[in-house]
Amino acid sequence: MNFISIDHVIKDYEEYRALHGISLSIERGEFICFLGPSGCGKTTLLNIIAGLHFPEEGKVMCLDEDITYLTPAKRKFGIVFQSYALFPNLTVNDNVTYGLRGKEWNKEKRTERADELLTLIGLSHIAHRYPSELSGGQQQRVALARAIANNPRLLLLDEPLSALDAKVRLTLRNELKTLQRKLGITVIMVTHDQEEAMALADRIVVMNEGRIEQIGTPESLYLTPKNRFVGEFIGSMNILTLPQWAQGKPIGVRYEQVQVRLATEDVLAQPYTLVVRLTSWNLMGAFYRLELLMSDQYTQLYADVPYQYFQDNKLSEHSLVAITISPESWCILS
Ligand code: ADP
Ligand code: MG
Repeated sequence: MNFISIDHVIKDYEEYRALHGISLSIERGEFICFLGPSGCGKTTLLNIIAGLHFPEEGKVMCLDEDITYLTPAKRKFGIVFQSYALFPNLTVNDNVTYGLRGKEWNKEKRTERADELLTLIGLSHIAHRYPSELSGGQQQRVALARAIANNPRLLLLDEPLSALDAKVRLTLRNELKTLQRKLGITVIMVTHDQEEAMALADRIVVMNEGRIEQIGTPESLYLTPKNRFVGEFIGSMNILTLPQWAQGKPIGVRYEQVQVRLATEDVLAQPYTLVVRLTSWNLMGAFYRLELLMSDQYTQLYADVPYQYFQDNKLSEHSLVAITISPESWCILS
């Protein structure tokens, strides 16, 4: 049985339809990312799962229970938002244990759990500080610890890393993944950062304008995007349409799949090989990104070639080069 099943969920904000019939299932223990541009409905969908919004139509199931209209507290999910949303007047320790109430939590148990959580997030040494005395990364760790304190069935994260600076974001991203693996908890995380989604998710749900474009593992979305939107949102992709290739359907090709060689007669005689003009290039670190102009003098392509290859072949600007794009690397786009 699926852990979470979302069935034809529609959400309107007055006349504006934010979600157009979303269906999706999630298995226990999965790390799912909702990925898409700003305004595509990621937060709306997450909030419906959290119980912070109700849909106009459709339902949300958790195992065999219909939770569509259940209060957030009864769902037993943990939530972390982009802004840290800690209680400013409570210490780290008290923020973390805030939700541990009721008869199963006596003082002793709460202290024990707090110690455990603070060790887990590496903040035991600052348990008595207040949020204003913490860095952004530390605050977000506290928010995370607070969200998992009660052993939630599901952890919902809305852009939890995007307010942090690049270096902290990367560290915390790794910590998040380690934590998820360690706890085996099911996670749904909203992000607009494709790199973050690729690094974290078991499966990515690519969204656009209130609809799901494609769901798949990072690898499958990268290698076989269904359409142009997914191809261009997950990594970068050349799109070309040639009457003699793929019956004239648009083809997506990753930059690193374009093979660049000197335009000798032998090379040009090979299949799926075209002559193009090398218009410029940029060093991207470990590789060069070549900008190429096709013979129609209009279509631009990019090719990523290893640094050493570029050096060895002494490619020069405005020269003609041969590119080979083998059919194995084509993504036929709908
Ligand atoms: P995302 O999280 O992907 O950036 P949201 O789910 O926040 O997108 O929003 C989806 C769309 O719904 C956006 O166009 C947004 O402007 C609109 N929207 C979100 N919340 C409200 C609201 N409370 N009232 C009206 N429109 C809203
Ligand atoms: Mg959002």
